[in-house]
Amino acid sequence: MQIQSGVSLSQYSTMRLGGPASYLVAVNDTAQLIEAAQSAKANNIPVIVIGKGSNIIWRDEGFPGLVIVNQIKGYEMISNDEFGTYLTIGAGEEWDSVVKRSVEQGLSGIECLSLIPGTAGATPVQNVGAYGQDISQTLVTVTAYDLNSQTMVTLAAGDCKFAYRTSIFNTSEKGRYLITAITLMLSRNNPLPPFYQSVASYLEERGIREYTPAVLRKAVIDIRQAKLPDPSLTPNCGSFFANPEIDSFHLASIQENYPAVPNWPAAEGQVKISAAWLIEQAGFKDYLDPQYGIATWPKQPLVFVNRSAKNTADLLKFADKVKTKVAEQFSVNLRMEPLLLP
Ligand SMILES: Cc1cc2nc3c(=O)[nH]c(=O)nc-3n(C[C@H](O)[C@H](O)[C@H](O)COP(=O)(O)OP(=O)(O)OC[C@H]3O[C@@H](n4cnc5c(N)ncnc54)[C@H](O)[C@@H]3O)c2cc1C
Repeated sequence: MQIQSGVSLSQYSTMRLGGPASYLVAVNDTAQLIEAAQSAKANNIPVIVIGKGSNIIWRDEGFPGLVIVNQIKGYEMISNDEFGTYLTIGAGEEWDSVVKRSVEQGLSGIECLSLIPGTAGATPVQNVGAYGQDISQTLVTVTAYDLNSQTMVTLAAGDCKFAYRTSIFNTSEKGRYLITAITLMLSRNNPLPPFYQSVASYLEERGIREYTPAVLRKAVIDIRQAKLPDPSLTPNCGSFFANPEIDSFHLASIQENYPAVPNWPAAEGQVKISAAWLIEQAGFKDYLDPQYGIATWPKQPLVFVNRSAKNTADLLKFADKVKTKVAEQFSVNLRMEPLLLP
């Protein structure tokens, strides 16, 4: 285990921005992760665990502590019962390889989460979701090192308080648990319709009526590749804002001027509206800001891409410009989806 110092964190965010980490270490197993966390604690320095940095915006000041890069591997089919097949996955496994492998085994439940960048261990953090699935639907347990009790713990899905793009890991217990593995329960049956609208249209247009996990995975990959930039070629962190949830009175007031605002029912009588649509209406469709070096992706304005930004401050100024315009026009407060750290 080699601890490095002063490493630029821009390499550890797919937005390719951010200052240095005081210390950084990659860990390959749980024992190394515990050793790294305990030595940070003994030296009284903050510690954070990360995966591939596809949901992190590092501040220009960098991270004044130890960044642990999780590379703990593992993919094990642990049991089968009448409900499904249980898989335990090392937190450092690349998420899309996990989806690919499970689909090849004919298992369903995560096929619509194909091509989401990052690691398996990060999926519970923001309850990763796409095309009608999210990780809370298949997650059984999370295994983690608890920085408070300094012991390994197993949390049941119910303990994680999953909701739309949130869990205890990015809210009430942010930073407390260093996730080492997740256990999922996947179905041995084929996925059943109704499917998410764009997936359903894809299948319909091609006359596909046999809905296997592999067919759904291919549909999602094709849809995503046509719409989203590849972070290894174009620096970005996926959706920059979450879809806002508003009440039905607020929706009605927006609909007075914009009857076509895309909206879906959400929890607790709220309505979710499309952040991409708001950004587009606010004048940021296929927009390049030459001052800050940030653009919106032509096919998806919710994705901000780093064309030539010099630093994170530039990105945040651009984000503020978009937020302010949307708030003025729609009285909606956009919430940033990637985590701004520290
Ligand atoms: C092009 C693109 C498309 C995307 N599409 C989607 C999408 O469709 N749906 C979606 O939900 N997200 C999407 N994302 C966001 C991102 O891929 C996910 O949030 C992913 O789970 C992040 O994984 P990561 O390993 O890169 O985590 P990181 O970015 O490294 O970390 C994210 C957060 O999780 C914490 N964390 C990471 N690993 C651990 C661990 N082992 N234990 C405890 N905490 C941990 C970090 O501290 C940080 O707070 C997209 C991103 C990009 C760039």
